[in-house]
Amino acid sequence: MKIGFIGLGNMGGPMAANLAKAGHEVTGFDMAEVSIEGVTLASSGAEAATGADVVITMLPNGQILRAVAADIIPAMNAGAALVDCSTVDVDSARAVAEQCAAAGLLSVDAPVSGGIGGAAGGTLTFMAGGSADAFAKAEPLFDIMGQKAVHCGEAGAGQAAKICNNMILGVTMIATCEAFALADKLGLDRQKMFDVVSTSSGYSWTMNAYCPAPGVGPQSPADNDYKPGFASELMLKDLRLSQQAAESADADTPMGQLAQDLYAQFVENEDGTGTDFSSMLPRFEKRSRQ
Ligand code: NAD
Repeated sequence: MKIGFIGLGNMGGPMAANLAKAGHEVTGFDMAEVSIEGVTLASSGAEAATGADVVITMLPNGQILRAVAADIIPAMNAGAALVDCSTVDVDSARAVAEQCAAAGLLSVDAPVSGGIGGAAGGTLTFMAGGSADAFAKAEPLFDIMGQKAVHCGEAGAGQAAKICNNMILGVTMIATCEAFALADKLGLDRQKMFDVVSTSSGYSWTMNAYCPAPGVGPQSPADNDYKPGFASELMLKDLRLSQQAAESADADTPMGQLAQDLYAQFVENEDGTGTDFSSMLPRFEKRSRQ
């Protein structure tokens, strides 16, 4: 396939490289100067999109996605597909899908889970929203860049799935960290806490697979001085998207709201930036009840 790839950063770069390695003809564009193995660079997004069967975008946010989409949609051939893999707000995803439909293009919102390691290893999970035809067109590419793709529903459903998942993740990480900090103060050994909770009703992905306590459970960023992994500021971004969506859909999400506020405090007023999102544990450790 002829593929245009716009946004060749930490995630997009290795994803584009994997598509090229699999034999696709990939033309990429990024505002920053980049060099990606196997990818021909264009001098604009529109140039990268011209003549492509599929254009993939991997960009920082919805505002940038809307600007890039306005630029590339007129350059795309009728019947081509725009596949946005960025994590953006549901409203932007739906707005771009409408513009694509009006221009005779297919579109998929397909945010990912799996992080930089998943992007490099081709083991991402894609959660996709769009028509069956659009999903079918993108699926062979998802198979190269990832290990699983779930067609979640119509336009916006991929972003909806992503932010709901990450709202649970943020809330659960905070609950796991505050429980460890409480256990410390109660004199409970962390390993014993893990042994009990990981096999009891408090178990979760954050406890069992990504334990925030160093030296306990499987290897995780806690064992690497809380280097990300999944950075606290990215968790904050996703929690904000969840609350923006909740506002727009009039959904009551008090725990999501509180998780957003705590990560905002941690990232903006404390030392959370650049640390893994599990470093909420050392944060709670240092604190007392106010
Ligand atoms: P990044 O900042 O490394 O990459 C974004 C790239 O987009 C940059 O290279 C930037 O120069 C480029 N860019 C910005 N504006 C542009 C424009 N107008 N035209 C062309 N290029 C432009 O970010 P990333 O970590 O690769 O994340 C990309 C997306 O993936 C984000 O939406 C993020 O939320 C999501 N995501 C990231 C992770 C992760 O672990 N990094 C995990 C899951 C999802």
